[in-house]
Amino acid sequence: MADVEIRLAELRDQINYHLYRYHTLDDPIISDTEYDQLMNELRELEAAQPELVTPDSPTQRVGAEPLSEFEKVTHPIPLTSLGNAFDDNDMRNWLARVGRILPEGVTTADLEFVVEPKIDGLAIALTYENGLLVRGATRGNGSVGENVTANVRTIKNIPLRIPAKSNDLTPPERIEVRGEVYIPIAEFNKFNKAQTDKGERIYANPRNFAAGSLRQLDSKITAQRPLAFFGYGIGYVEGAEVQTQHQALDYLKALGFPINPDILHTADFNAVLDFIHTWMTRRNQLPYDADGAVIKINSFALQEQLGVVGNAPRWAIAYKFPAQEATTKVLAIKGNVGRTGQITPYAELEPVNIGGVTVSQATLHNYDDLAKKDIREGDTVVVKRAGDVIPQVVKPILDLRPANSQPVQPPERCPVCNEPTSRQGEDVALFCINAACPAQLIRQIEYFVSRSAMDIEGFGIKIGEQLAVEGLLTDIADIYFLQRESLLALEGFAAKKVDNLLTSIEQSKQRPFHRFLTGLGIRYVGSTVAELITTTFPSIDSLSQASEADLEAIEGVGPRIAASIVAWFSRPANQALIEKFRQAGVTLQVIQPAEADSTPQSLAGLTFVITGTLPTWSRTEAKEFIEQYGGKVTGSVSKNTNYVVMGDNPGSKADKAQSLNIPILDEETLKKLASEGKTAVT
Ligand SMILES: [Zn+2]
Repeated sequence: MADVEIRLAELRDQINYHLYRYHTLDDPIISDTEYDQLMNELRELEAAQPELVTPDSPTQRVGAEPLSEFEKVTHPIPLTSLGNAFDDNDMRNWLARVGRILPEGVTTADLEFVVEPKIDGLAIALTYENGLLVRGATRGNGSVGENVTANVRTIKNIPLRIPAKSNDLTPPERIEVRGEVYIPIAEFNKFNKAQTDKGERIYANPRNFAAGSLRQLDSKITAQRPLAFFGYGIGYVEGAEVQTQHQALDYLKALGFPINPDILHTADFNAVLDFIHTWMTRRNQLPYDADGAVIKINSFALQEQLGVVGNAPRWAIAYKFPAQEATTKVLAIKGNVGRTGQITPYAELEPVNIGGVTVSQATLHNYDDLAKKDIREGDTVVVKRAGDVIPQVVKPILDLRPANSQPVQPPERCPVCNEPTSRQGEDVALFCINAACPAQLIRQIEYFVSRSAMDIEGFGIKIGEQLAVEGLLTDIADIYFLQRESLLALEGFAAKKVDNLLTSIEQSKQRPFHRFLTGLGIRYVGSTVAELITTTFPSIDSLSQASEADLEAIEGVGPRIAASIVAWFSRPANQALIEKFRQAGVTLQVIQPAEADSTPQSLAGLTFVITGTLPTWSRTEAKEFIEQYGGKVTGSVSKNTNYVVMGDNPGSKADKAQSLNIPILDEETLKKLASEGKTAVT
């Protein structure tokens, strides 16, 4: 094999791997720029020797393969990707190319354009039949996408029936609406902040968030994600006359779809360029992350005549905005302490203007990332921001590094309470595990009183902060020792408010033990894990004696969780905290219900597999039901499966069940099977 063939094979493998990381796992490990470099090299080599282009080359497809767990959807009309322009010259060249293939008698001066900001989200196709949403599909590789209908339904601004507005429009027989699913920047920042506070993984950018949220196998997770949608086009429509892109947008709007408010319709190409320049400078005022503008030729008849070249239509182009980067100096590198005690490094910067906003702080994610990038105090660095996303330090400029600079070491002591910091296992995160650390206290209180934990009504974040600042709370157990008189002395605490608060606090003492355990905020011990643990360790005393091995013996508890729990209970300060809760009379064990569980074990000995979307139950609820009646639920269909419980849009499991002749039940028949026995289903 010639050297060039070996290099081509390497590039294909590498790029396909990175595409997989980016599109399938939503977890890229190289920057867009590095990725573009690989793609450019591949394109150049292939252009020089077209006979070496293989069908599996990444240049031959639009995106990545869909995940196998979602049902695959073949798009009736492929969702193409757009060619890119990077400056006005590219735009004029595009117009000139279009001009050369326009039909007789039409010149570029006759063209009309529709321009809108390009949202950095995930493209989807929504199919409506006689007004009803019947399918939502991701773009996938352009020809084949994934059926994400259940998830799409959870997005609040996507109409389930059209017209969504009260007008007398008759819905078309069939229409495919195309658009972008995205997350508003404010929501993105809020979500990542909450994740950081919980010590959990954050999303690198809004696009990854939208993709990761829309492609959840459990649509209940998607429902909790603040996703939004803008319609930008029609794939096809039957039973309505639409002749231009601008008409299409008006029609979608009339049907009740959210349409980008910042759309330009013009016959003046200079106005197109002006519009793009305006949004390039104002992009940070948009409530979503915009990475460019999309320009389309208005007439569908002309679009058809211009056609598609390769993967991209000739009649549209994406103008990409330049990255928002600037260089500045790192004045200091400091640590911020979150609720779980996680210490996140950040850089204090010499204030610098990036895209119209003054940036004086940037996140450094974690100490491993900081060490890898080797960013030091005194360094001149490249800082990047996208929309209003929290600015990040990209890299140091080594040529400008001061001679005496030193690498940053992770702090050995908490920047707030000065207690020793700790790392847990292989984890990249650094922690202050002192439960009395003041920086953590306010966030701990907020979490302890929250709905998922002790659910203390009327005890908001403001009250938590106020009480901590006034010194009435020095740890979370102090909540149960608050005195009526000291509360009344505070600003804004009338007698009624105080009495209500004290009543709520008193009532919370009776919360189930697993909710108390959740409220302690032990790392990795959220409500699900807490419930799991209390089935084996039904009291605080048995749990605090548990070894890592004891804990790992619980199905669903891994070494990370086990180590975190043991470390927490090994601290004398935390033991003292538990004693305070005990004195206060908080429930520290599982209270068995008075009556014994009388559910008949009618499904004992039977193995079930659940697939698809059930009409009223989530899969977890169906699993709980089966287990309550003594049955077992496994993840994949085999000869040992007795029944497959199937809902809408089942995956490959349904085919497998049929090929093995395994009986299929719906939700209703499953309930019958449990209550009436096997005769009910045969
Ligand atoms: Zn601390």
